Amino acid sequence: MSDEKDLPPKMRPSAQAAPAKPKPRPQDPVEQEFWNRCQDGNLYFQQCEGCGSFRHLPRYMCARCGSPEWSWEHSTGNGTLFSWTVTHQALHPAFAGEIPFIAAVVELEEGVRMATRLVDCALDELELDLPVTLDFEPISEDFRLPVFRPVAIARAEG
Ligand SMILES: [Zn+2]
Repeated sequence: MSDEKDLPPKMRPSAQAAPAKPKPRPQDPVEQEFWNRCQDGNLYFQQCEGCGSFRHLPRYMCARCGSPEWSWEHSTGNGTLFSWTVTHQALHPAFAGEIPFIAAVVELEEGVRMATRLVDCALDELELDLPVTLDFEPISEDFRLPVFRPVAIARAEG
């Protein structure tokens, strides 16, 4: 009788019967608004109406000038790889079929950084300042998460 541990991670029955990926659990209405806005396939960041700076994570006051006034502005979705780690252990069973995967911090053109995943990127392509662009990963029928992929691959797929 074969032990599940003898199989590669993606072949294990427990990986194939993986539960849904967990959704973000917003802590307040402004964070909820950020996730709601992702669901149309675009990314929006708050822009301060006092000093014009963009910010992320969502919050009620500008950390630079203290203004409580902001608007939601459409992001270009273009950025560069600021940092990453290659994850070889699934700390949630929903990710067991995808290891190794790349947990990344992307710096957007707007100047904000966000924690995300880098997809369709070979591990030997990884380098600081790699140009990346936005995509969305559906994690359920009614929810998608922003992820990023290298720009060259995005162009090749049209
Ligand atoms: Zn400001």
